[in-house]
Order: sequence, then C-alpha cells, then structure tokens
Amino acid sequence: MTTRWTYSFGAGSADGDGADKALLGGKGAGLAQMTKLGLPVPPGFTITTAACTWFFQNSEQWPAGLMDQINGAITLLESQMERSFGSTQAPLLVSVRSGAAVSMPGMMDTVLNLGLNDKTVEALARQSENPRFAWDSYRRFVQMFGDVVLGVHYTRFSQVERKFCGDRTLESLSVDDLKLLVPKLKAVISESGFAFPEDPRAQLVESVNAVFRSYNSHRARYYRKTNGIPDAAGTAVNVQAMVFGNMGNTSGTGVAFTRNPKNGQSGFFGEWLPDAQGEDIVAGTRTPLPINDNSDRDGLKLSEAMPEAHAELLRLKDILEAHYRDMQDIEFTIERGRLFLLQTRNGKRTAQAAVQIAVDLVHEGMITQEEALLRVEPEKLESVLRPVISPDANKTVIASGLDASPGAACGHVVFESLDCQAYAERDEPTILVRLETSPEDIQGMTVAAGVLTARGGQTSHAAVVARGMGKPCVVGCTEITVDYSRELFYAGDFVVRKGDWITIDGGSGEVMQGKVAMLPPQTDGGAMVELLQWADSVARLTVRANADTGTDATRARELGATGIGLCRTEHMFFHPDALRAMRRMILADDTNSRQRALNDIRPIQRAMFAEIFEAMDGLPVTVRLLDPPLHEFLPSSHEDLTDVAKELGVRVEALQTRLEQLKEANPMMGHRGVRLGVSFPEVYRTQVRALFEAAIDMSRKGIVVRPEVMIPLVAMPGEIERLREQTVEEAERVLGEAGIHIDYLVGTMIELPRAALLADKLAMHADFFSFGTNDLTQMTYGFSRDDMGKFFGDYEREGLLADSPLAVFDVEGVGQLVEMGTKKGRSANPRLKVGVCGEHGGDPVGVAFFHKVGLDYVSCSPFRVPVARLAAAHAAIKQR
Ligand code: PEP
Ligand code: MG
Repeated sequence: MTTRWTYSFGAGSADGDGADKALLGGKGAGLAQMTKLGLPVPPGFTITTAACTWFFQNSEQWPAGLMDQINGAITLLESQMERSFGSTQAPLLVSVRSGAAVSMPGMMDTVLNLGLNDKTVEALARQSENPRFAWDSYRRFVQMFGDVVLGVHYTRFSQVERKFCGDRTLESLSVDDLKLLVPKLKAVISESGFAFPEDPRAQLVESVNAVFRSYNSHRARYYRKTNGIPDAAGTAVNVQAMVFGNMGNTSGTGVAFTRNPKNGQSGFFGEWLPDAQGEDIVAGTRTPLPINDNSDRDGLKLSEAMPEAHAELLRLKDILEAHYRDMQDIEFTIERGRLFLLQTRNGKRTAQAAVQIAVDLVHEGMITQEEALLRVEPEKLESVLRPVISPDANKTVIASGLDASPGAACGHVVFESLDCQAYAERDEPTILVRLETSPEDIQGMTVAAGVLTARGGQTSHAAVVARGMGKPCVVGCTEITVDYSRELFYAGDFVVRKGDWITIDGGSGEVMQGKVAMLPPQTDGGAMVELLQWADSVARLTVRANADTGTDATRARELGATGIGLCRTEHMFFHPDALRAMRRMILADDTNSRQRALNDIRPIQRAMFAEIFEAMDGLPVTVRLLDPPLHEFLPSSHEDLTDVAKELGVRVEALQTRLEQLKEANPMMGHRGVRLGVSFPEVYRTQVRALFEAAIDMSRKGIVVRPEVMIPLVAMPGEIERLREQTVEEAERVLGEAGIHIDYLVGTMIELPRAALLADKLAMHADFFSFGTNDLTQMTYGFSRDDMGKFFGDYEREGLLADSPLAVFDVEGVGQLVEMGTKKGRSANPRLKVGVCGEHGGDPVGVAFFHKVGLDYVSCSPFRVPVARLAAAHAAIKQR
C-alpha cells in the first residue's frame, strides 16, 4: 500500500480526520475540521508530519510518491479555484505554512503569495484590476522567499526598501515605484549568491523544504525544550489557496479570540488591519485596530468598517466554540468584503483567563468540572496571584502602551535577550525593552521579569508569548523611542538607559520610572475559588502551607491551606530581641546561663506561636524544632564584631573564639537538626514549652489548637526515641501545670537516606513523617543545595539534568526513598500520617508522585497552595 503523504481539503469536504493532529498537525487538522463544518476556508492540502519525519531521517530527501501526490493535490486545487500554477491568465497563488501537532506560535516558517513571478504578477494585476495590489504582493513574496527560504537576512531587504522610500512610506508607493523596487529586492537575493526561482513548482519545493527545516531551527528546538514538547514529531505543511486582505479598503485581515485571552471574559477580542496581509499583524509593524464596537480602544472598528463581515465573524465564532468546546484563536481574511477563516486553534491565554474560561464553560454546559480542572495547568495558577501596583504608590508614569499581559514587574532595563540572561545569572530582574520581539528573543523573555515593546498589538509576538509565559507585558508603546545603538530609550523628556530601573504594569499598559510599590496579588478571584473548590472535591491529598508567622499563616489559609505543614522556628530567632538572647545562649559557658538566655527567648516564641495558632484555628500546625547550625546566629562578616560583643557584654576575643569553634567545614552536614537537640536539650525543651504555653493561651481563648511537634534531620531510631520522650515529658509538664488537656502529635522529618531506610524503626516513635525533600534530595545526590547553582548550568547544557532536582522532584531516585520510607513506616505504625514539606510539595511533578504513593498531605509555600491543590486534583483524575 502506498503511503498517503498529502490530504486535501476544500469545498465542504476534507480527506483528513479533523481529530488527527499527530498526522496533520494542529493547523492541518483544524483546516480539515473547519472545512467539514462548512466554514469558509480557502481550499488546499496538508503535507503530513510523517513526510517531515521521513525528510529528516533520510538526509533531507523526500519520500517516494510525495512529489506525485503534491502534483495531484495541486491539480485538484487548480480546478477548485479555476486558476493554475504559473498561468499567465489566471495564476494560482498559495500560502505555505507550518503546523506541528503541538502549536509553537511564531517558531516556524511561513511563505505567502507563492506562485508569483515576473509573468504571473502581470496576470494577477490584470485579473484583479488592481495592479498595485499585485505588485505589492510580489514585493512581499520576493522578500519573504529570500528571507525564509533562502536565508537572506530580512534587514538587507528593509535597508533597500528604506533607501528606496526615502521619506515616503511603503504604503504610499505607486505601482510604478513598486515595479522599480522589486528588481532591487531580487538583486539582494542574487548578490547573496542565490537564484530566485521563477517556476512556481520550484518555489513550492524549496518552501516546503524550508518549512520542514524550520522545525529543527534553534529557536523551535529551544521552544520545545522550554515547553516540554517532544522533539520527534515533525511539522506538517499546509499549502492553501491565497485569499487577499491587501486588495484595497474593502479587504483586510485580522486575528481574533472568541473570548478575552487576558481575563477570560466572554465577547470577541481581536484586532484587524484594512488592506493588509496576515504578517502585518503578527509582525507588529503596523499597530492594528480593534474589532468590536464595545472596545475602548481608538481606531476604526471592524464592526463599523465592514458590518457584514463582522456579523459573519460573530456567527462563525459560536459554531467554532460549540465544536471545539474551548476558546478559539482565529485568523481571518476579508477579500473584497468576503470573509475567510484561515486558521483556528485553542487560544493561548493568561492564567487568569484560563481559569475564568474553564469555569465559564462549565456554567455554559460545554464541559464538565473535571475537564475544566484539566484545562488549567497547575503551575500557571501562581501567576493569577501576581503582584499589582499599589493604588497609593508614588509613581511617575513615563509612557503608556497596550496592556498585553497582566501583573506588574520591575527590573533593570535591557535591550538584548543576552543581557536578560546575564542579569539573571546574578539573580537580578530585568525588563526586556524592544521595538518588537521576535522568536529570537524567547530565551531573554523566559528569564526577564517583564517585556515592553514600542510596536505591535495585542496579538504581536511579544504579547502572545508573554501571556503564555504568564509574564507582565506592555506592547505597542509608541510613546517610547528605542535607540539600540546607544542602549537607551526616550519617553517624553525622560531618557532611560540600560541598567536603569523601570516598572511596567501589564494590566494597565503603564510604564513607570524606577521601582514602584506593589501589592501582593488579589486572591479572592471568584473563578479561581470555584475551580479550586472543585479541585478539593476530587483530590485525595490535602494541602498545607509552610508558614512561620501569623501573617503568612493567614494568607495560607485564605489560599486554601488546611494546616501548617512546616513552621521553621529558626526564623523566630531572628527577631532582634530573640537574636540577642540567642547569641547569649550560644556564648553561655554553663547550663544556668544558657537557661537564662533561653528564658528570654521563650516569651517571644510563645507570642509568635500564639499568632499562628489563632490564624489556624481548628487546623493542625506542625512546628519544627530548631534546625540550622548555631553559627548562623552569630555575627556574619558584615556585622561589626565589636558592636555585637559590646551589646552582649562579652570580650571581642571570646566572641571570635566561639565563632572559630562553631565553624564547620560542611555545615549542612554538621551540628544541626536533632543533633542540637541532643547536645542542648534545654533548647528544644524551651521551644516545646513556648509552644504549649501558646497552645494553652489560645485554647483558653476558645481557639482550637492542634499542635504537632516535628524533629528535624533524624537519622537514627535512638534520636527520635529520645527526643520524643523529652518532648512528651515537657509538653505534659506544661499541660499538667495548666490543668488542660490538648491532643498533640510528635513526629519526625525524613530528610536523610538513612531515615528512609530505617523508616520502620523510626515510625515506632513517631505519629507522623514529613519528608523534607530539600535535604533528602541534596543528601541523596550528595550535592549541596547552596552550591549546585555553580555547576547546574553545565549539567543542563550537557543534557545531564533537564531541571534542577531541587525544583522538580526526582521521581526516579529520591522517589524510591519516599515510597519505601512510607511503606516501611506504615508497616510498623499503621496510623502514621505521612506528608511532604520540602519545596516539592508545591511542584506538580512531586504532587503527582506523592498522590501515587499514597501520602496524606503536601505542604508548600503559601502562594503555591493553589498550584498544589490543582495538581492534587489532576493526579486524582488522571489516576482514574
Ligand atoms: C527540607 O529539607 O525539605 C525542609 C523542608 O527543610 P529545610 O528546607 O528547612 O532544610
Ligand atoms: Mg531540611
């Protein structure tokens, strides 16, 4: 059987299956589907992704049969269009577009107006009765072919055009001008050592090859890598009869979303340009006009300029949404008043819009709650919670543009992607400022805090990509003048240079001088609350938060935390009064003076614990006893030893000696965690006392307290046995003195491989385990979490590590320890509660795994609580 490499579509029928994205690519499948739905799609054919894969596997040759099938598909197309390739009467013009199974907007190549040459251009001019349009199309084609197919840099063409135009615009050139310009553009091609093929079939073959190759371009590979798209799939190529948006003022082209991709609100959202071709909008070289009459933007609205085409667009929108059951991103062209759809796909959207749309579609009866949950990537929820500019902030607005992607960001101004990366290596935020962005800027945009462009609309590259990344972005900011060569931009009277701080507000479009005060994100968004309620109803894992203060605990509770999974008490010792007492404690020569210092610390901790209990009324609060090595509390090199010595009433030498004594070669593996509890039992006793005093205080106020005491860095059963005894003794003493009964738990962290290996023995002395996957990961890999940044880049580059295991859970390695530790622990103590409190508690990969191995809860930073709640729901749904 011969392989079928091409699938035609047109005139209401299509060879391909509209669901077969793997073979036809997203765009090809969409075109087949739209044709079958009876929508006005120009006819054409799709060359399969399999042909592309074959091409790469066979030294860029074509499979046998592909050329014949293309010829057959062209013949069909010619008869449908009543035009033919190379005809000097009625020439057929086509577009050649990429379309992989997973959409990679702007990453691959497109060629428009293919089929034009010195002869067909004249025929097109005669036929369309619009010579200017024909020559303008030819101008565009020569450039695009030169740039995209032959690899002649587009700036070489623009230089020639600029020189030719002088102070005229391209739009103002006459036919005769264009006739003079085209040969100059062709000369750029021949001067670069290429021949411009006059034969349309040769143009097509070369364009198909170029689109295939663009699948493996550096930027496309980078996009796949950063978006977790597998490399093997290849792209399809769609060859489609051209319809023309640049035939004068009754023509136009546009991009529209069936709902607002920024906030998800229903209603058409889009932009169009009269007398233009699609690339004019995407490239952002002309600032597009709004589509809807309810838009608050200025400019000629499509609904006013072409009411009939606009009404037709509205009708098609509903058909598309009903079919795809999701918000669509449509490309359309109006040729002399007649509307054509060129593409539809599920539209990229901000996290906020993703949530709103998913919830609305459930209310509209289009999808189920579970589908809605799966439509939102957990990771993205964090950006719903992005900061906004404080309403009473002092701000100097220096320019305004279009509000492309919400959230506020501030950073150093840079003009090149590479500079974003250089600053990022120093952990410094940047705002990438460009005239317009192109796919080459992806790497910079990935690490920038925000993006600002002088040109472009809501659907320009910068806007679409930033929105997808969940990054604040302002585009079309025509009030700034960017000067790349001098690395600065002007905004009115302001000159902003590379390295200066600016703030952008992607929600309002404002650009502000310096760092402007921001408010923590709003967390009471109705749609997100509703979606997360659905998530909780299907999830099995519960989600707690890591919080060390009453304020954090309150925020965590607002975000849906069902308890505190980790309160790191060391942060309480950094309270100025506590720090002084702590230092006295560390410098103490005997138990008595140590106890006196501890007595000063106790009330401070007691008050802090009380705040947390109050915020968490009714919910469990896991408090970890002191963990870090003691030298962390002594003056650092930045502090003046003399001042500290004076404050503490000790000699400088004594302080210095103690510092020397406490110095460790490997503090992460040194005198920390439970080892402190063994060496200085009074420290842990004091913390336990403070905790239960606070519990009693709050319980007397009617607050329901559920304390859980957690011992860190345990490696030996004897350690937890001893510390449990001591904890219970102290707790019972405090409770006994008060004559109050409070239920509490005592448990251990599992942070060392040995603890996981001996989990059954530890579990006999523990009510709960909490996997500290930060330490467990560093101890399993044997690298320090503080130092791995130094070599991670090399590992990433060499392909040894795709993600830092400290950010994305190592299922393969550390996962074994978690699974085994849980099984062993529960075998010895069936009532053992098991959770995770390392960073991976908020990492969707980790959460999926913790669900699978049957943990009871995860605990993560407050802002990641929504992420973990949704990830827990995904894990539960996917397991079914
Ligand atoms: C851990 O190790 O995973 C943990 C939660 O503790 P810390 O990060 O404080 O060491
Ligand atoms: Mg730890």
